[in-house]
Amino acid sequence: MQQPIQLFDSASSTYTYLVFDEATREAVIIDPVDEQMARDLAVLNEHGLKLIWSIETHAHADHITSAGRLAEEAGARTAAPAGCGIGTAAVQLKDGDLLRFGAEQIKALHTPGHTAGSMSYLWRNHVFTGDTLLIDGCGRTDFQSGSSAALYRSITEVLFALPQDTIVWPAHDYQGRSHSTIAAEKAGNKRVAGKTLKEFEAIMRDLHLPRPERIDEAVPANLHSGLRHDAGAPGAQPRPAEGYAGDLPPQLACEWWKTGEAVLVDVRTDAEREWVGFVPGAVPLAWKQWPGMTMNAAFDAGIKAAVPPGKKAVLMCRSGVRSIAAARRAAELGIEAYNILEGFEGEPDENGQRGRRGGWRYRGLPWRQG
Ligand code: FE
Repeated sequence: MQQPIQLFDSASSTYTYLVFDEATREAVIIDPVDEQMARDLAVLNEHGLKLIWSIETHAHADHITSAGRLAEEAGARTAAPAGCGIGTAAVQLKDGDLLRFGAEQIKALHTPGHTAGSMSYLWRNHVFTGDTLLIDGCGRTDFQSGSSAALYRSITEVLFALPQDTIVWPAHDYQGRSHSTIAAEKAGNKRVAGKTLKEFEAIMRDLHLPRPERIDEAVPANLHSGLRHDAGAPGAQPRPAEGYAGDLPPQLACEWWKTGEAVLVDVRTDAEREWVGFVPGAVPLAWKQWPGMTMNAAFDAGIKAAVPPGKKAVLMCRSGVRSIAAARRAAELGIEAYNILEGFEGEPDENGQRGRRGGWRYRGLPWRQG
């Protein structure tokens, strides 16, 4: 019988889980911890696994996730509960959604209470309960949109309704226990078993837990899949630039584009888009320039047609070089034009590898294979 791989971070007492399809080796990681990324990549490697999904049970307050970096390093896609405000996650999960890997699937169960968006994940007869249900305990409900009434309903009506032999894998344990079962928790969990909603609320109210040490650092980072560079910082502003309106981190460009404030223009060639991938909905308009070339009539006409008056243009290329030249030209034509930093794939590192330094594609923003 296939079991999840359970990994432990002793600094935060967090469990991270890996589940995979035995035939295709496609894998899902649940609640990865930033400081443990090297370990997790080694475990994937050791088992010959290809990471397809990196998912969160909620926006954690006690540790920073490695989800965004795993997307960059291992090519995984990020998914998170829609109600958690993790805007960088490529897939926003709703109750009942399925994530497939090989012939296997994980089902998202909305189990609010610890936070309003919290989810548990069901795989075969295993449930990953995050901080909703712990072994002989449960997550706290006194911060981050917590609600003890919601948590009571999630535990007693959603989780306890699962088959009794379902194995419970929590996000934390502070006493070295690894897993439990629905039957055991239903019978013996000291906070919930045999308790009324009123009794449960009183227990939760009287816990008086200290504030998590890392909450001020962890929550903002986790709302951006753990990516802490300025590209992901909340409230990031465009950087002023010479000859055009400014430079934008990819997430901010994506926001402007999604709200309709800006038109996204991809200045790479058709061949690059086909080979590397593209952003559905972006305007394809190649920026071509060679020595001696003084004007690019096709680009001029294309950008004027694509960007209606009153809208901004955000320009993207592969690594963020051509888009600067294109933004300058668009600015000359009277358009409020911005360059997207790092481009689609990010700058290559010392080994010529892209993605490690960011890029649209590696930050969980929407794109598709060409
Ligand atoms: Fe938590």
